[in-house]
Formats: sequence, C-alpha cells, structure tokens
Amino acid sequence: VNGLKKHFTAGSRFFGTQAVCKAVDDVSFSIERGKTLGLVGESGCGKSTLGRCVLRLHEPTSGEVKLEGVDISSLSNRELKAMRRDIQIIFQDPYASLNPRMTIHEILREPLDTHKIGTEEEREAKIAEVMAIVGLRPQVLNRYPHEFSGGQRQRIGIARALVLEPKFIVADEPVSALDVSVQAQVLNLIAELQEKKGISFLFIAHDLGVVQHICDEVGVMYLGRIVEKAPAEVLYRNPKHPYTKALLSAIPIPDPTASKESMKLQGDVPSPLAPPSGCTFRTRCPHASSRCKEERPATHNTGEQGGEHLVACHLFD
Ligand code: SF4
Ligand code: MG
Repeated sequence: VNGLKKHFTAGSRFFGTQAVCKAVDDVSFSIERGKTLGLVGESGCGKSTLGRCVLRLHEPTSGEVKLEGVDISSLSNRELKAMRRDIQIIFQDPYASLNPRMTIHEILREPLDTHKIGTEEEREAKIAEVMAIVGLRPQVLNRYPHEFSGGQRQRIGIARALVLEPKFIVADEPVSALDVSVQAQVLNLIAELQEKKGISFLFIAHDLGVVQHICDEVGVMYLGRIVEKAPAEVLYRNPKHPYTKALLSAIPIPDPTASKESMKLQGDVPSPLAPPSGCTFRTRCPHASSRCKEERPATHNTGEQGGEHLVACHLFD
C-alpha cells in the first residue's frame, strides 16, 4: 500500500460549508506473505476505511494497492471480481454480515458458486474442510445464523472468508463484539490459520492488547495517519509516539522491563472534519509545544541496526 488516501467531502457545497474529511491521509505499508500487520487506534481514526480501501470496497481517492505486484486500485470491475477470490474480509459484527435467510451451507456455498470453483464434489469437500478448520460440526450446516452464539457466528464468518483460499484477509475488529472468554479462542484460530495456510492478514483492532500475540508488526493510527509502526516485539517494549504510549498504558504488560510511561488519554479523538493544525495529536499530547501547532511532523525511521521503527513526532526528529 503506497500513499493511500481517502478523502470524503461533507456538508453543503451551496452554502459554502463544505469540508473535506481526510479519513485516510497518505498511508503506506507492506505485508509479507503469511505475516500479520496489526492496525490499532481509537474509533474514528480511519482504520476501517483504510481496510475497505485496501479491498476496494471503498474507492481510494489516490494511492496504490498492490497484491503480489498487481495493482488492485486500477483493475476493471471484471478483473476485480476475479481478484476477490484472493482478498477477503472478516467483519466486526458477524451477525450483521451473515444473511439471516441463508443456512450456513448456503452461506459457504455461495462464493464457490459465484467463482465457479471446482466440481460439485470439490465444492462440498471444501465446505467440509473449512467447517473442520473453524471447529464447527458438519451437522450444523443446515441451521441459520441466529441459532448460533456470537463466537460461533464469527467462526462462520471466518469459514466464509476461507472457503475461496484467499492470500490476504482484512480482519476488521473480528473479536471486539465477543465476550473476553471467546476472544482468545477466535484469536487462536486466526493464529493457526497464519501458520498452516500462510495467509497474510491486516488485523484491525482498537486495543493494543488484542493484537499483541498475533501480529508480526503493528501500526498505530491516529486521524488518518500511521503515527508509529514497528515490529510488534519492539513496539510493545519500546513505544515512542506519545499516542502509542497512552494506548499501551491502558493495557497490562507482562514484561516488567518494558518502558512504560503511565499516561491517561484525555478527551476524544477530534473530528476528522476539523483536525487540529500541525500534529493532529497535539490537543491530547502532554509533550505538545508551539512547533507541534505549526508543523505537521514527518515520519522518521528511528530503528536500530537497520530495523524499521517509524515515528511521526517532532520529539524524534
Ligand atoms: Fe506530541 Fe508534538 Fe509529538 Fe505531536 S509532534 S505527538 S504534539 S510531541
Ligand atoms: Mg471500525
């Protein structure tokens, strides 16, 4: 993903009150095959919009999205439809994303029919295989989504994403709607998929705790930009951006040697329609200076020994 932007216009053109919402503002990253990038930030920071732009469920305003060298952002509708096989999404609310009038079998069969994959027997074998992977008994195939618990429904959502054997999955807060006890099971399932199937994931979450154990890299997003990005192990041990530190101080860290500055986030994310000048985090940052008001911080690589640890903050110039 290179220089991706998604800008919406809001308000009325006729009354001169039109404003541009920079939901995603110049975001770049790459994900290796079989690896997971976690994308973390509070609600309203543009994470879901970014995930949808990557899949072209939203049309990006500008920028490039490539899968194995093929530019997804310039595909025609027909080419895009074929590409859909390789790129799937798991939604936050498994219930809203499953058609209530379709049985589980119909839900899993539909993508195979749409993409005309395999013979009748092969389609049924694929359905049986993904049911086994997500830990659901074949006996439940004729049931409807409402007959399942939240965790089971998310397993069905994952099975549906898997049935086409995708190379890349965007998981948009896949466990946020689940009970804590069920969250771990679904996270373990996703970790298993990375390992066994070599699928790459963009894993969106609002809590750094959730992505800690399943991401290779983590990007922290604030008002449309990635403000810090590093290998997961580095980011949790040595967070640099004040926003990351604030998010981290909200979760318990098992490693007592990790540097952890206690900092409570004050207030809410400002409206993306009227973001603060300069550094958009300055209205909540304990280190904000006059420079932060005037100048938008550039992204610097502060990584040691050739590693990448990107930070967009004047403190790390
Ligand atoms: Fe805080 Fe300034 Fe850094 Fe922004 S640039 S995070 S306001 S210190
Ligand atoms: Mg979201």
